[in-house]
Amino acid sequence: MQGTVSVTNLTKTFVSKDETVTAVDNVTMSTPPNKVLTLLGPSGCGKTTLLRCIAGLESPNSGEISIGGEVVWSGAKGVSLPPERRNIGMVFQSYAIWPHMTVFGNVAYPLEVRKVPKAKIEKKVKDILKLVQLSGFENRSATRLSGGQQQRVALARALVAEPDVILFDEPLSNLDAKLRESTRKELRLFLSDLSTSAIYVTHDQVEALTISDDVAIMRDGYIVERGTPQHIYLRSNNPFVVDFIGRANFLEAVIKSYEDENHAVVSCALGNIICSAPAGLAGGTSVTIYTRPESFEIVPSSSPAVENEFKGTVGNVLFAGEAHEVELKVDGVDVLAKMKLQTPLKRGDQVRLQIGREWCRALDPEKEEA
Ligand code: ATP
Repeated sequence: MQGTVSVTNLTKTFVSKDETVTAVDNVTMSTPPNKVLTLLGPSGCGKTTLLRCIAGLESPNSGEISIGGEVVWSGAKGVSLPPERRNIGMVFQSYAIWPHMTVFGNVAYPLEVRKVPKAKIEKKVKDILKLVQLSGFENRSATRLSGGQQQRVALARALVAEPDVILFDEPLSNLDAKLRESTRKELRLFLSDLSTSAIYVTHDQVEALTISDDVAIMRDGYIVERGTPQHIYLRSNNPFVVDFIGRANFLEAVIKSYEDENHAVVSCALGNIICSAPAGLAGGTSVTIYTRPESFEIVPSSSPAVENEFKGTVGNVLFAGEAHEVELKVDGVDVLAKMKLQTPLKRGDQVRLQIGREWCRALDPEKEEA
């Protein structure tokens, strides 16, 4: 059970004079031990409130929270442990490190509060500073560090007491874009090596995809879908999730027949194509299919016909740094494709394009609207 956080039927409402907001709406979820679970969703969907309930910084209305097998909050059982008795580490956007203390003083603080013997504190702080690559910075004043270094001090302080779980609330959002990218990578490697469980709140999609083992997409206080980053980005068939994360081309289509249990032939603006589809939809069912812009391939003009091939006319070709964004017209329908820079395309070109059957998916008509 170590490291596992379980939340059962958790609800948290905020009541003010004029309105009641249900920030967390009957959420049930658990984190696997030694994995990073990210809560991702649009502003106001309840991710910070859920994290703060787990931390003990908000008092829920009902439900239950356990950390490492111990119930830390339960409406029914009348349990409510304060944050300092929950064995959690916390890293916030604002770092929350103490400016009047040295790096050593900041990291040692949680152990000093617990009255850990001095020699043991020195050893643990030294080890943890090595881990976050801040050896040699012990006596540096915390304010004389870069943003990235300050964030590593905050991380070291969160880790030093060996918590069951670390809670991160937008920890990188105060860093500039380049530093955010490198710190993100470091943090990912670091959390994998350390085998620590973490719950991570962000509204940055790339951060969520790179840092997590599992992503839970939230909307209006509840979890819409949960899965690996690959599943969430490439294989979701939930309209809200697909629309929220990344960019996609959505096309209206009609189911014609099934190739096998999970692949259907659909008729759409790209012609008759084979795509991944929820099992068992009747022929004639209207569905929306989606493709990610980066999943199209150019078919060389000399090549024989391939599966899921269609013709397009190139419109705008926009330089977007690492790729070209290519706007195409296919039978009057706009399609956005991302092509590597080496692909020589210009406005007015007629091109043969292909989309692999796994890169094109029908949304589940049973799932909610985006
Ligand atoms: P963001 O990404 O913008 O931080 P979030 O997903 O973390 O958003 P929360 O901060 O959890 O969302 O807020 C969820 C809902 O609860 C929002 O409608 C918010 O306005 C409301 N809320 C949060 N804290 C309070 C509060 N202390 N009093 C009243 N309403 C609150």
